[in-house]
Amino acid sequence: MTTNLQRELETMLPAEDRLLDPADCWAYGADNSRLHALPEAVAFPRDAGAIVELVRLCRSLRTPLVVRGRGTGTTGAVVPVHGGLVLSMERMNRILEVDPANRWLVTEPGATNSEVQQAAGQHGFFWPPDPTSSAFCSIGGNLGCNAAGPRAVKYGTPRDNTLGLAAVAGTGDPLRTGVYTTKGVVGYDLTRLLIGSEGTLAVITEATLRLTPLPETRQLLQAVYRDMRAAAAAVARIMAQPATPCALEFMDAAAIGMIRGYADTALPEQAGAMLMIEVDGARAQIGLAAEAVRRAASGDGCLAIEVAATPEDAERLWRTRKALSPALRNIAPKKINEDVVVPVSRIPDLIDGLQALGRRYGITIVNFGHAGNGNIHVNLLVDPEDPVQMQAAERCLDEVFTLVLALRGTLSGEHGIGLVKREFVRRELDPAALRLMRGLQRVFDPDGIMNPGKSLPDALEAT
Ligand SMILES: Cc1cc2nc3c(=O)[nH]c(=O)nc-3n(C[C@H](O)[C@H](O)[C@H](O)COP(=O)(O)OP(=O)(O)OC[C@H]3O[C@@H](n4cnc5c(N)ncnc54)[C@H](O)[C@@H]3O)c2cc1C
Repeated sequence: MTTNLQRELETMLPAEDRLLDPADCWAYGADNSRLHALPEAVAFPRDAGAIVELVRLCRSLRTPLVVRGRGTGTTGAVVPVHGGLVLSMERMNRILEVDPANRWLVTEPGATNSEVQQAAGQHGFFWPPDPTSSAFCSIGGNLGCNAAGPRAVKYGTPRDNTLGLAAVAGTGDPLRTGVYTTKGVVGYDLTRLLIGSEGTLAVITEATLRLTPLPETRQLLQAVYRDMRAAAAAVARIMAQPATPCALEFMDAAAIGMIRGYADTALPEQAGAMLMIEVDGARAQIGLAAEAVRRAASGDGCLAIEVAATPEDAERLWRTRKALSPALRNIAPKKINEDVVVPVSRIPDLIDGLQALGRRYGITIVNFGHAGNGNIHVNLLVDPEDPVQMQAAERCLDEVFTLVLALRGTLSGEHGIGLVKREFVRRELDPAALRLMRGLQRVFDPDGIMNPGKSLPDALEAT
């Protein structure tokens, strides 16, 4: 049966800019969470004008609208759980302007992260956010969930690296936020509000990204520790000295065990934790920065520090780290993948607590991630066919979040809330803040059409 939305789209958009057949729409119902729901239709807008029309159409029909980048998100944020229209931004992928003198790049949201890095790189610049998925994920998706990566420890996240946006609010009104300058304080900061809002307030149609000059060179160090406490103490020492690394990644003993399984590596037998530390900067100063970091990384419990001798060596070591996440999929039927954050000095308490929870619930937990930010990817390895284990995992996860909040942490550093973490949000946000956020949501989206069921708990639950 043809729905009202489908009928309207047939007249509004040329056939090549829409999908209406359920078989064609199927692929647009999922993301990397592996959750799925079938949308009523998919549209491929080519400019902001088309988006204004589509938002207004959805508003008039009271139909949900889910804006989608490339669907690499891990939280079900683009799964159309209430049906409606999926707005796929993949055809709005032009890089519009690169301005080296003013250090900005203007792009449409459908460009991939790596396309932006390439365009900026031709002028000697880069955009700091660097998710491991950069070859596939879109700038709109990076902004939608404030996605980052290893470089955030020195250079920050999309919120720190975006000057302004063009967007279409859930009212159907186009708007511009932010400035083209590196200073500016006129009005409320709607740019930071829209970044991380997971498509629940507005569709971002253009972004002015703040660029940083490419460093002349890098130096990678790999430090191995007897145990997690020793590694965490080293992280605190490294972060307390002035040569801030451009990456400070951590792996626990379980992650090291996995690496042994698939990579050719000569890590000491007693290795209980590992740090990968990279410094960048001017050629004349890199030796001093590397030495300062090496000194901070040494100390009680440090078993070995290897300095990558060549760029190829560094590339090999990074490949090992980046293969960890996909490798987890191969050793367990399912991984429940969280990206909690705690203050850097509380990392040892977090890891101790996680190990205790793993033992209590009989679940293997593998931890790695961006230690310099205290952002740890906590992976519960489970078998979805085992109902007893799945129940235990649910209780364990609940306690993981309790632990993180007790350590003054936050539920998500970069993956966002989406569908899967919604019920925990009330534990982190106080009721007054949550009410104000709901109010903001109503201003941007009075009819509740923008990605409903995501990011914040339902209004009733929020009161
Ligand atoms: C192998 C792998 C590695 C990963 N590594 C990392 C990592 O290192 N760091 C990290 O942070 N994440 C990582 N991710 C998660 C994911 O890639 C990022 O969150 C990425 O930013 C999602 O981009 P996307 O284009 O796929 O967005 P989608 O998944 O399509 O959407 C993500 C969110 O953004 C919103 N959105 C998309 N476009 C717009 C728009 N134009 N306007 C408003 N909202 C919009 C969506 O509604 C949704 O809420 C990884 C994923 C995979 C599969």
